[in-house]
Amino acid sequence: MLDALTERLSGTFRRLGSSGRIGEKELDEALREVRIALLEADVNFKVVRDFVARVRERALGQEVLSSITPGQQVIGIVQDVLVETLGKEHAPLERAKGGPTKIMVVGSKGSGKTTLAGRLALKFKSEGFRPLLVSTDFERVAASEQLQILAQSIDVPVYVEEVEAPAADVARRALAHAATINANAIIVDTVGAVMLDDEIADALAALADVVDPTELLIVVDAMTGQEAVTLAKEFHDVLEGSGIVVTKVDSDTRGGAVLSVREVTGLPVKFITTGERLEALEEFHPDRFASRVLGMGDVVTLVEKAKQAIGERDAKEVARRMRTGQFDLEDFLGQMEQLKKMGPLSGIFDMLPGAGAIKAQLGGGFDMNEKFINQSEAIIRSMTVEERRHPDVINGSRRRRIARGSGTHPSDVNRLLNQFAEARKLMKAMAGGGGKNAGGIRRMLGL
Ligand code: GDP
Ligand code: MG
Repeated sequence: MLDALTERLSGTFRRLGSSGRIGEKELDEALREVRIALLEADVNFKVVRDFVARVRERALGQEVLSSITPGQQVIGIVQDVLVETLGKEHAPLERAKGGPTKIMVVGSKGSGKTTLAGRLALKFKSEGFRPLLVSTDFERVAASEQLQILAQSIDVPVYVEEVEAPAADVARRALAHAATINANAIIVDTVGAVMLDDEIADALAALADVVDPTELLIVVDAMTGQEAVTLAKEFHDVLEGSGIVVTKVDSDTRGGAVLSVREVTGLPVKFITTGERLEALEEFHPDRFASRVLGMGDVVTLVEKAKQAIGERDAKEVARRMRTGQFDLEDFLGQMEQLKKMGPLSGIFDMLPGAGAIKAQLGGGFDMNEKFINQSEAIIRSMTVEERRHPDVINGSRRRRIARGSGTHPSDVNRLLNQFAEARKLMKAMAGGGGKNAGGIRRMLGL
């Protein structure tokens, strides 16, 4: 995610962090690099200008240049300003005080509205709500079928009409239907706009009047960058949105949309989505996102994801086994299966502190992929129970047998065993208190 930006910024930071003295000239040089990095990431030029000016002003004002660790201080200021640019505080999704919570999703064609509607329904369902999905999009062929299939896959009711009618009328009937089935979270999907012409603007405004949404979410497609941000502003001017969702913040997006949209629209980003799977919906936390952009990792989100995938109880049991040195290759296998549930590994890797620097070191070809996990799984599955519990017994002939059984090479088996030994060492260190983040990670995992 936002790899190029992160790489550039962490490069600048490394140089800043290691320089003993920073004068105004060095500061401006570093800020020039920051500026270029942001512009290359397609951040809105006004946002970039303000950003750099704010960092500069603060750096000069706080007299960091004469401090003992000026580089670190400047980095800290950049981080603070980035968090402010992203909106400072996490803005949670509003829930209606009385009556059902109603969410209306608007945005350009293909930006991910329908998928988002499904994601929100799934989220509400998992929180114990009774959601209803509503389609008001007649323009695209099969738009309502798409929503129906989505709804079916998550076992949520859906309201669609076969005969084309004005969106506002459909919504009126959908709300009545919602009352009869006692739905308390209603998510209204809408037709996409390439441009917000009068016809679409009027139809959406009429729809919003009927729905009277608790949240009117404007979807911004990160892949289309600044264009999407400009359109979001137009949507907001006409419909008065309550929040933004930036979609497709996957590994190959440059990031400009996420970084600009708050400043340009004044609306908080409530979620980002990072993949096609319905589960790839993340609450947006400006501070955590800033850390990720700056290559400082996002351990909090990582641990939350791990807890979701593993389940709190299992996490505690695994942690106990790690601590007591009982963790064996069978546990390792279980962990790899859990890891796969957490989604694409490259995304997870980005949340680790220092990921940017590691990637830079390994070069552009770095890829933690499913293939690697599948191979490791095959190797462990070819072992006997005794070998999984006590890898020390694995000698040359056993290694050859395991390689044959898993369709790999003995050197692959060796590599896996070495990695396991390394992982075990790391666990011991974490359980024993080493490492800068270990204490925090332990607390979050409830150890
Ligand atoms: P709509 O026209 O706004 O309703 O957009 P859709 O929900 O139909 O999505 C359009 C396409 O974008 C679909 O192929 C989705 O799978 C894809 N999509 C949606 N969100 C994401 C995302 O976060 N990442 C990626 N890579 N694709 C997404
Ligand atoms: Mg759609």
